Amino acid sequence: MDSVSDLSALAGSSVVVVGGGFGGLSTACYLADAGADVTLLEKNEQLGGRASRLERDGFRFDMGPSWYLMPDVFERFFGHFDRTPGDYYSLTRLDPHYRIFFKDGDRVDMVPDLETNRETFEAYEPGAGEKFDDYLRKSERNYEIGMEHFVYEDRSRLRDFLDLDVAKNAWGLSLIGSMQDHVERYFSHPKLQQIMQYTLVFLGGSPNNTPALYNLMSHVDFNLGVYYPENGLGGVVDGIVAMAEELGVTFHTGTPVREIRGRTGGFVVRTDEGEFLADYVVSNADYAHTERELLPPEKRQYSDQYWESRTYAPSAFLLYLGVEGDVDPLAHHTLVLPTEWDDHFEQIFDDPAWPDDPAYYLCVPSETDDAVAPAGHSNLFVLVPVAAGLEDTPALREAYRDLVLDDVAEHTGVDLRDRIVVEESFCVEDFAARYNATKGTALGLAHTLRQTALFRPPNASREMDGLFFTGSFTQPGIGVPMCLISGQLTAERMAETAEEP
Ligand SMILES: Cc1cc2nc3c(=O)[nH]c(=O)nc-3n(C[C@H](O)[C@H](O)[C@H](O)COP(=O)(O)OP(=O)(O)OC[C@H]3O[C@@H](n4cnc5c(N)ncnc54)[C@H](O)[C@@H]3O)c2cc1C
Repeated sequence: MDSVSDLSALAGSSVVVVGGGFGGLSTACYLADAGADVTLLEKNEQLGGRASRLERDGFRFDMGPSWYLMPDVFERFFGHFDRTPGDYYSLTRLDPHYRIFFKDGDRVDMVPDLETNRETFEAYEPGAGEKFDDYLRKSERNYEIGMEHFVYEDRSRLRDFLDLDVAKNAWGLSLIGSMQDHVERYFSHPKLQQIMQYTLVFLGGSPNNTPALYNLMSHVDFNLGVYYPENGLGGVVDGIVAMAEELGVTFHTGTPVREIRGRTGGFVVRTDEGEFLADYVVSNADYAHTERELLPPEKRQYSDQYWESRTYAPSAFLLYLGVEGDVDPLAHHTLVLPTEWDDHFEQIFDDPAWPDDPAYYLCVPSETDDAVAPAGHSNLFVLVPVAAGLEDTPALREAYRDLVLDDVAEHTGVDLRDRIVVEESFCVEDFAARYNATKGTALGLAHTLRQTALFRPPNASREMDGLFFTGSFTQPGIGVPMCLISGQLTAERMAETAEEP
């Protein structure tokens, strides 16, 4: 069912979208479909934003997102335009969804079959199988309510964080307690707690600073499933760009925006290749970059002090590796977790440092897709979450690279060190330079309680009439599905504003 509100008030208006990440692309599609004349300006040569691609010597790496979650959101998105994801790419459900190597030598798979997962839980802790069912039932309910009341509804327009309807449903828990407290109520075994909490990394938070309402992520993980799109997440970008072109969006890549001035009906967007005029502007560039570097000072909503005091989601230390031979027993999605991971979270959020004993993620798309590496080779990347704003120098990176490759060899048994044929790293300084990312954050503003729902920066500027925002910094938040929804919410907000007398 398509429940997008009427956007027809935007027909005939001209809009410049700044930035071609998922939020910008999605907004552009909704606006063009409503009859607006849409021009998208992207700083980099590629579209997709943090979902860029790196191609080198026959290897093709997705540089950012690699988990295709919430297939329902993609169906709903394409459905609005009378299309399906299948018109642009196919999906393969991964089995296992992911493999975990605990650093004490233990190893476990989470698979599409729930009965098998239930048995795995029971084997760790008697009674945990039943609690697994119970946890997932509540998580599913929370997902349904959460999507309805928090995600597809623009909370920044509503006064109450918890309206009566949501409060009545109550979710059987304190929504605003921490995930740590919530998970502890169900499972005592630290490994089971970690399995239920690792998805918080997708939200840029830790078990202690993320509200319990995000236990809905377990429904996403276990029930909705983990997929690989044809040609990776870059294939999804290609699909959305193709659809945007069909809808009439004009793209200018390699076109950084330098300045935005004006108001509804009279915007001027300055770039090195000239000025673009528009009735409205939508910024998908990082919110703080837009406010602090593109707007006149009197049009900013927030002070520097505001941006300094936010809790940023982590940055990431990434190593893109093309290697000779196979990398068994690594699975497409592999997590390597110390049994005690509080120290790593502390080194991200409380006391920034390069993590001594990191929890990290290995992505091996060549396990599923032959096209991402030359024959006889494997394609993988290593992702270690690190603090946003962490000091990032070539020497620090080089030392950390050695630590990580040693750790992979020690804890997975896969020694990559002597067979790497392609290697690139990406970290804090690259996020800042390539995407204008504030403090080099990989993800934006973490989903702490104070930065959730109506507490996120709004998608309509309060200071500059006709300027809107989209993407992970605003409603509803972080992740590819959320940024697609963000496009809908922003377009709806614009249409509502256009209708006002
Ligand atoms: C390493 C990594 C792994 C991730 N893994 C997952 C995952 O597995 N699954 C998932 O769902 N999500 C994942 N995410 C999160 C997800 O990728 C992001 O939340 C989402 O892609 C952000 O989209 P966005 O709309 O906020 O725009 P962004 O991707 O941030 O794009 C903004 C665009 O604006 C451009 N821009 C900036 N300044 C200007 C300017 N002045 N002029 C013109 N253009 C400008 C930038 O170049 C960029 O292209 C991951 C992110 C990273 C970095």
